[in-house]
Amino acid sequence: MLMAQLIARKRDGGALLPDEWRAIVAGVTDGTVTDHHAAALLMAVFFRGLTPEELDVLTDAMRDSGSRLAFGDGVPPRVDKHSTGGIGDKTSLILAPLVAACGLAVPMISGRGLGHTGGTLDKLEAIPGFRTDLTLDEAQRQVERLGCVMLGQTADLTPADRRLYALRDATGTVEAIPLIAASIMSKKLAEDLQGLVLDIKVGSGAFLPEPARARELAHTMIGLGAARGCPTVALLTAMDRPLGHACGNALETEEAFLALRGEGPADLMDVTRALAVEMLLAGGLERDAKAARDRIDATLASGAALERCAVLIEAQGGNPAVLDDLAVLPQAPHTAVWAAPRDGYVTEVAPRPIGEAIVRLGGGRRQLGDDIDSAVGFVITAKPGQRVERGEPLATIHARNDEGLRIGRDALEAAIAIGDEPPVDVLMLVGERIT
Ligand code: URA
Repeated sequence: MLMAQLIARKRDGGALLPDEWRAIVAGVTDGTVTDHHAAALLMAVFFRGLTPEELDVLTDAMRDSGSRLAFGDGVPPRVDKHSTGGIGDKTSLILAPLVAACGLAVPMISGRGLGHTGGTLDKLEAIPGFRTDLTLDEAQRQVERLGCVMLGQTADLTPADRRLYALRDATGTVEAIPLIAASIMSKKLAEDLQGLVLDIKVGSGAFLPEPARARELAHTMIGLGAARGCPTVALLTAMDRPLGHACGNALETEEAFLALRGEGPADLMDVTRALAVEMLLAGGLERDAKAARDRIDATLASGAALERCAVLIEAQGGNPAVLDDLAVLPQAPHTAVWAAPRDGYVTEVAPRPIGEAIVRLGGGRRQLGDDIDSAVGFVITAKPGQRVERGEPLATIHARNDEGLRIGRDALEAAIAIGDEPPVDVLMLVGERIT
């Protein structure tokens, strides 16, 4: 295989043959395709795209590049949820125990924070002792015993994606719809799922802010799932403001625990319920949305979701006392309240400056492998459209030191706008449902 010729063909708008893609993925997996060849091919795909046939074969080859989960007959139907990433989005921490307590199995493989967005693994690791580095074997056995597991991508799951993703991150080729779709779906399809729910974020804090691009990504992933026996449904949800109040790892974990008691902020509960409904429908546990919602509400109200979370935390080495005593989570030594500078309506709470500030506070990574400070972040109660008075507390900054408080204040000033009229262009919290 002459990589230079294949790259040139893609560069010039041609398509590669199925065997050529399979050979490339095999070479990416075993290291015989060099970084420079792989990176040049990714850039060619970034500009030229993939034909539907190329996308199919690339996704399958990536899915098959490592081990896969494979459950026996006794395990309930498996479902998972994937979010394209945002600020304050802690729904995964709520959904895995909640949906498992409803009666489905959830083998959830999640990622770390990426750019300005947070990651489920980082939030879980705020729980003292919690292990996310399970092997696929351990994960499989835990799902069989408890109905849910939350872990990171293992060394043996889709190793081709692991290498390609790192190269894309380093070469400005992340935001390509076919590459995102193949990357996400190859991992999800390796989980042996009966159904997948996609939470596609739209708005200024999303990786693909434009609804048209978000829709295209949704359709691409739904097509891949459907053709492989994994019915996939997508909700477009708002990321033109943070989700919930807490932004930052331990703060978000704390808010997720409150939500498992049914006491989370209204917008967080609404998005979580909408996604949970889709998961119950996708797993065939309920046939209509009303019955699914009733089951979800009963599972939250009975304490069964919280109980399943305690079992999950204990099984993965964490301290379940954290559910009763939130002070067990890391706490930032410095906090400061940020108040409305004037009377008026909140016209914007821009998520991107908040996410970027969390990285600057130490709560996210500047490069792969950086340690993070779980305790830092924001609790922002202000929502677009809210009427506020000068001096009214709208947010709290959680920082390691005075410099962190200054970064936090600057970020809130950049993110929160107050005007004379309510905003007219706030996105619907749960928008389109795409099947
Ligand atoms: N998450 C992934 O796993 N892959 C992508 O390409 C983008 C987000």
